[in-house]
Amino acid sequence: MTSCHVCHNPAITPVAVDTRPPRLVSSDARPVEGTVGYGYCDVCGTLQKLIDRRWRDVSDRVYDTYDINHQSEGAEPKVFGSPFGDGPRSQVLLGLFLENAQLGEEGRLLDVGCSNGNLLASFHALRPQWRLSGSEISDQWQSTVLSMPGVDAFFVGREIDYPESYDVISLSHVLEHIPDPSAFLQRLSRHLTPEGRFLIAVPDLRQNPIDLVIADHCTHFDANALMNVLDKSGLIVDTLTAEGLPKELVAIARVGTATEKPTPYVVRSSLLDLCEKYLALLWDVTDAARHAGQTSGKFGLMGSSIAAVWLAEELGSSVTFFVDEDRDRIGSHLLGRPIFGMDQVPEGATVFIPLSVNVAKKIVDRGRKYPIHFVYSESNRPDTN
Ligand SMILES: [Zn+2]
Repeated sequence: MTSCHVCHNPAITPVAVDTRPPRLVSSDARPVEGTVGYGYCDVCGTLQKLIDRRWRDVSDRVYDTYDINHQSEGAEPKVFGSPFGDGPRSQVLLGLFLENAQLGEEGRLLDVGCSNGNLLASFHALRPQWRLSGSEISDQWQSTVLSMPGVDAFFVGREIDYPESYDVISLSHVLEHIPDPSAFLQRLSRHLTPEGRFLIAVPDLRQNPIDLVIADHCTHFDANALMNVLDKSGLIVDTLTAEGLPKELVAIARVGTATEKPTPYVVRSSLLDLCEKYLALLWDVTDAARHAGQTSGKFGLMGSSIAAVWLAEELGSSVTFFVDEDRDRIGSHLLGRPIFGMDQVPEGATVFIPLSVNVAKKIVDRGRKYPIHFVYSESNRPDTN
């Protein structure tokens, strides 16, 4: 029996997936061999991967060969239609942050899980006088990040004793990878200045069922689950929103004083029910896509990220190309197949959209002028309630 890695409840409820476990994809959108277990904690309500040898083996393999944004040679994905503007993801995230937190012209920022430094570069453009540090589990991007303007330190390792304090510690898509995230945040809290703040972004399972198949994600957050982890870490949440970035939750939090009350949770449907519903939804999507592939001579998938890679692995050789609207990705290859723009799709081809009905409808609208037969699954409706 594995215990809950958030509240340490020793009796976690396994989620039954053994009859048809979904294939796994890494968070950098590569196929992953192997399977993992899922568990739900009745005490704290967290949905998680079982932190056992299987999960550790799978996630270690993912990190050994991590290749962020390989579909676009390292360029980060772009965000469209956010209330905080359009553009590279980290720019939009920082736009949200600056609107909700007062930051002076000078200060220190530590970006934990900085990878190739996209967030540090975006932050430097907004606050050029700040001193920036990055931190990663490997030294893969050390020289890249240290050569960026404003950056004066790069730390390597999993449990780092940082030599100074920071006005901002950012964790963009980090917390979902970390077993026992509250213990991790408590250690980091000691490196915040008294007025310092965390900027935290994680995937939102309620907006994004595909998060379940991401092998190296060990917590599948919704707003409640994130609030719970931040509360257990002794943090007060000043902002928590699912509206800033598509399919993500963004929180701004600080170390609370003894008299401050934690923010009350919003009660929502259980993540155990949601997980079972989403696994069924993923199989509906697979079946709809398989049918579309069998009835079409030329068949491709919309997108070049996690959902497209996952579905291509499930379907096999019927998928002959991918389609993307991001100019940084068009012309590259994924899983040995080309990534086309909509204007390059062979005439009369079928393109399956493995995304929610709302998103799929917008894509179909934008692609109306091309001779593409778009298909999506009507049951792909994430439950944001
Ligand atoms: Zn728990």
